[in-house]
Amino acid sequence: MPRQVPRIEIPHTDIWTVLFEREDKPFPDSQVIYQCPTTGRNYTYASLKRTTELFGTGLRSHWKWQKGDVLALFAQNCIDTPAVTWGCHWAGGVVSPANPAYTARELGHHLRDSGARALFTQKNLLGTALKAASEAGMPRERIVLIGDDRDRGVRHVTEILGERLEGSRTKLDPGSDLAFLVYSSGTTGLPKGVMLTHLNVVSNLFMVNSSEGALLQWNKDKILSVLPYYHIYGLQCLVHLPAYAGLTTIVMSSFDLKNFCAIIQDNHITYTYVAPPIILHLAKSPIISNYDLSSLRMITSGAAPLAKDLIHAVKNRLGTEVKQAYGLSETSPVTHIQKAWNHGMGSNGPALPNQVVKFMSPDGQEVPTGKEGELWIKGPNVFLGYLNNIEATKACKTEDGFFKTGDIGYEDEDGNMYITDRVKELIKYKGFQVAPAELEGILASHELVNDVAVIGIQDHSQATEVPLAFVAPKEGVERSEANGKLIVDWLAERVAGHKRLRGGVRWIDEVPKSASGKIPRRILKDLLAKEGGVV
Ligand code: AMP
Repeated sequence: MPRQVPRIEIPHTDIWTVLFEREDKPFPDSQVIYQCPTTGRNYTYASLKRTTELFGTGLRSHWKWQKGDVLALFAQNCIDTPAVTWGCHWAGGVVSPANPAYTARELGHHLRDSGARALFTQKNLLGTALKAASEAGMPRERIVLIGDDRDRGVRHVTEILGERLEGSRTKLDPGSDLAFLVYSSGTTGLPKGVMLTHLNVVSNLFMVNSSEGALLQWNKDKILSVLPYYHIYGLQCLVHLPAYAGLTTIVMSSFDLKNFCAIIQDNHITYTYVAPPIILHLAKSPIISNYDLSSLRMITSGAAPLAKDLIHAVKNRLGTEVKQAYGLSETSPVTHIQKAWNHGMGSNGPALPNQVVKFMSPDGQEVPTGKEGELWIKGPNVFLGYLNNIEATKACKTEDGFFKTGDIGYEDEDGNMYITDRVKELIKYKGFQVAPAELEGILASHELVNDVAVIGIQDHSQATEVPLAFVAPKEGVERSEANGKLIVDWLAERVAGHKRLRGGVRWIDEVPKSASGKIPRRILKDLLAKEGGVV
């Protein structure tokens, strides 16, 4: 029998209502929610609410914004993106955040695939944004800058803001109207638009808050926001949760270890959400010793597996307690979170409320507690489906509503969940998704390459997986290190930084294929392991 988890009350409503019409709000309207560490500029709860209304009004009056219209956000973290996001929701729109490291080709694909009507970006990303928009056929006047830097040729968000609130909020059906379109490759293939409804996101906010809310106090805690806002983990834990719980959040535009430490020290940060490579720095980097990080009492790490010894190392070095969480874009995202660092150490803790969780054998049988199987999840946080891709949606969702995660794990007698392996193709570099099929598609057009397969291998020195390509060369091509490097460098010019072939190139006679043409990646991993590589 699937384990039953506790139930909580989740309101059947949209994100804006939950955040800005909250009757039991414990903190004052003047509470600072997002603060920029460089300029000191901030948004209080009241100014956030007002800006969302004016921005929503502006979207309507400038572009006749309709329910379901998609706004693409191509930006590094900044204090303006939450207001843009909820302003778009106010006017009934859908936000599709894109990785600011994308190349113009990648962003162009994102814009076309999501059907975005407008692109909001920052001055330092404008070159890429303009190129991508032109490729995707989006007119220049649909590109808008956010943040402090302006450009004479492009509109700034302040020019879109309405002068006064006009009209009323678009009525939404929380269970079917989309709030976000985030991108994930899922179990196989290319990145796909993950359709998250308002109810998906509200449910997960309440689920996360049912565990995290008890650990955080608006008048005592201060949060550091370093996870990217374009990923649903950052969006949920560092954008929605702070606004709901009234937590002041210092917003870093991107990760830099010295800056990270200085901000913790100077702002007396108490809590943050990160991915494992930051935990590695905290455990091992000599830079850490130059700062007073004593205010940092707790961290939650997610997006990729975290080794237990790093949790102990951080506790011993800094006294900071590190918990683990697990989730996916398709589950809005958090499904499991440890209640305390020493409850179920090494696990991701118990399932959050209102879900049904089970572990399945490859032949579709549920396995008993303690045995490994593929994790299947049902709950109000499970996504609607992949945009314009019924086939991929059907492949991962059962008729009775379970979502097949593609991750292998088990649950102990106390209900703590451990992830042990992955059956899906996905590679995660420092918590960022790399889809092997995407790299294979690009590499196949290289002049030295006859056929190619990409897998993930472990790089323990960085606490992450890295992509490696098995390349079957064209006839007559020398299988040399230099030629391998040519391929690595060539790809680096075409993809965002996290997708680079940091694991290098291995030459192979022929890429193995199953009868249906699939690459049995396990065989390649075994091959590498036999050669003494770490996989
Ligand atoms: P994303 O959709 O980008 O959030 O990626 C989801 C995937 O990240 C999951 O299916 C897992 O493979 C991996 N993942 C997330 N959190 C963890 C964790 N705590 N331990 C192991 N893998 C994780």
